[in-house]
Amino acid sequence: MTTSAARQFDSLAVHAGQDPDATTGAVIPPVHFSSTYAQDGIGTLRDGYEYGRAGNPTRTALERQLAAIEGGAFGLSFASGLAAEDALLRAVLSPGDEVLIGNDAYGGTYRLISRLLGPWGVSVRVADLSDPAAVEVALAERAPRVVWVETPSNPLLRVTDIASLAQSAHAAGAIVVVDNTFATPALQRPLALGADVVVHSTTKYLGGHSDVVGGAVITSDAEIHEQTRFLQFAAGAVSGPLDAWLTTRGIKTLGIRMQRHSQNAQRIADTFAHDARVARVFYPGLTSHPGHEIAAEQMSGFGGIVSLELESGERARRFAESTRLFTLAESLGGVESLVNYPDAMTHASVRGTELAVPETIVRLSVGIEAIDDLLDDIDRALDA
Ligand SMILES: *Cc1c(COP(=O)(O)O)cnc(C)c1O
Repeated sequence: MTTSAARQFDSLAVHAGQDPDATTGAVIPPVHFSSTYAQDGIGTLRDGYEYGRAGNPTRTALERQLAAIEGGAFGLSFASGLAAEDALLRAVLSPGDEVLIGNDAYGGTYRLISRLLGPWGVSVRVADLSDPAAVEVALAERAPRVVWVETPSNPLLRVTDIASLAQSAHAAGAIVVVDNTFATPALQRPLALGADVVVHSTTKYLGGHSDVVGGAVITSDAEIHEQTRFLQFAAGAVSGPLDAWLTTRGIKTLGIRMQRHSQNAQRIADTFAHDARVARVFYPGLTSHPGHEIAAEQMSGFGGIVSLELESGERARRFAESTRLFTLAESLGGVESLVNYPDAMTHASVRGTELAVPETIVRLSVGIEAIDDLLDDIDRALDA
């Protein structure tokens, strides 16, 4: 769609890469399951398509939609968030390079860098990237090749000023990658704030219905894109056609879903912020949250994740096992509400490292259900 650059987020989410089918006029372009494509002569391809790992029209449609919604020039879709991260990291890193990563980054990202890339000569260093002074110290100590940040972070919702981090990192010669899984481009556009690359676990809000695993890399840097695309092709962790199509369908409603997720999360945070049964509520939409002002500036909503600190690990575990509407499960970002106990679930792999999460924390992925039912459920579970 040639005019898409001028359109706004909600229009792009619905239309980018989604022109009606040229042959039939089908408003929803068909899902292309073919693994291979007829050639009109040796090497004469009809639309550049040759073989399913190299390219697939349903995946292309998703990749255009991903690029458009993040305001990037290029999008790539992968079989999972970690597959996307792996391709990007191997594309931009060489042996001897270092990644500087936030101290509450997604545990799987830390594991990927330290345990998979480590033996190939890549190192990882951890810092509190939400603290500009700590960033300056870390960058002055040694220049990393990549600065990798999640904001808001998981599960403590720390907020990093992307524009200011990008400025410092670029001055040190590093590239800046933002994992935008939590905020989504409906609420935050890192490339416009100076980041070089955005990655997603599309498994979460972009898919939005907990029915598909996927990942994405979006950038406007042609060299980073070409190198990552080569890895997508040469290593082959592509998304399948049905997965790509489900993700595209999810993205079309991302804007309104994120509004409702944010509204519900804000109500929960406001309701329990002063509840005696809760030691602390972590939500960037609370004015008492240390990152509130930056979040209000760089985001257009505060998102759907709320974390609660309870009085002990025992109480946190009991709460997580007592909700009825909030399902006890890993993952986040679907229309249904989930509760997670990070210490023994999502963050078990970083126990005992600098990324460990206190055992008193529970994380809520607030869905789009009726708010009164969600409030009742939390209230009941707190009394359990
Ligand atoms: C889930 C998640 C990932 C990993 O994505 P997968 O799709 O599970 O491979 C990366 N980053 C964040 C912030 C996540 O929540």
